[in-house]
Amino acid sequence: MTTPTAIRIDLISDTSTRPTPAMRRAMAEAPVGDEQRGEDPSVDRLCARVADLLGKEAALFLPSGTMCNQIAILVHCRPGDEIIAAADSHIVGSEGAGAAALAGSYVRPVACARGIFSGDDVTAAVRDRKPKSPRSRLVEVEQTNNRGGGAIWPLEAIESVGRAAHAHGLDLHMDGARLMNAAVASGISARAYAAPVDSVWLDLSKGLGCPVGGVLAGSSAFVEAAWVWKHRLGGAMRQAGVLAAAGLHALDHHVERLAEDHHNARRFAARVAAVPGVELDPAEVETNLVFINVEETGLSAETIAARTGERGIRIGVDGEFRMRAVTHLDVNEAQVAEAADAFAGAVAAG
Ligand SMILES: *Cc1c(COP(=O)(O)O)cnc(C)c1O
Repeated sequence: MTTPTAIRIDLISDTSTRPTPAMRRAMAEAPVGDEQRGEDPSVDRLCARVADLLGKEAALFLPSGTMCNQIAILVHCRPGDEIIAAADSHIVGSEGAGAAALAGSYVRPVACARGIFSGDDVTAAVRDRKPKSPRSRLVEVEQTNNRGGGAIWPLEAIESVGRAAHAHGLDLHMDGARLMNAAVASGISARAYAAPVDSVWLDLSKGLGCPVGGVLAGSSAFVEAAWVWKHRLGGAMRQAGVLAAAGLHALDHHVERLAEDHHNARRFAARVAAVPGVELDPAEVETNLVFINVEETGLSAETIAARTGERGIRIGVDGEFRMRAVTHLDVNEAQVAEAADAFAGAVAAG
């Protein structure tokens, strides 16, 4: 049996970052208390900071982004309600059908390019108010859109979706797993992107490089209702300040540097796009996600991934002929160039 090659350059996800030594020190030194009782000063600081960053009245700290989405859905929706979201969104394909399993709601998927739709799409998807119709209740947008290639929702699109949702009495929720990537790449503040939405969260464990956590923000009434679900689902914690301290550290030190990840993603995309048979438009790489269509290379995504894996480089497989590479804090420009060369070599090997 051969020993599997250790992964040296991991482009599988921006969740693969490890806390830096400085982040670990901040965690070790964090003042803490019983979070479930509202007595953890570091969690309180983090929530106040994110609420301010996103221009909302209040925020709460949760173990994961998935729990942020699910609790938001539970607060906004009742059984029988319908959520309007892009067909490829995380809540549709990557959360265990939580909307249905937990809130008794389901998603009306909007077919759209790169995960971005318009206010008119919302208006067209809202149901008539008839006894037989599902009750349209919530619209969800994903900033940036993961499976849409890390595409950034233009501010005007969010505003038009917000106007359409509110005109029909629906709430608007933003999955902000990579909202800070969008803000850094576009120069538009997270607060501006979040202004049209009723609830929004940031993932600390993606590009921001924390080991754990998401922060969900909204009105005081929304956050109060969300706290009930946080308890109910077992998301209320104890000395969670060690985790919140990582978040505070990340907000101080890991936001502006997301620009490096975007630069590295563009470098990687330009190199990979030049490989014969690869379908990839580098102009579509707006943030840190690079999707690669390899169908015309004559090789499957699995084969290419296995070959780069032999060189200690991990690239994600996202379908028979689709791959995904994600840049982050733990890969530098030289490593990304090496990964692109390994990809080219894997394809050239035929
Ligand atoms: C990762 C991700 C989530 C879920 O976040 P976790 O912290 O992994 O639970 C939700 N939405 C999007 C778009 C994501 O990429």
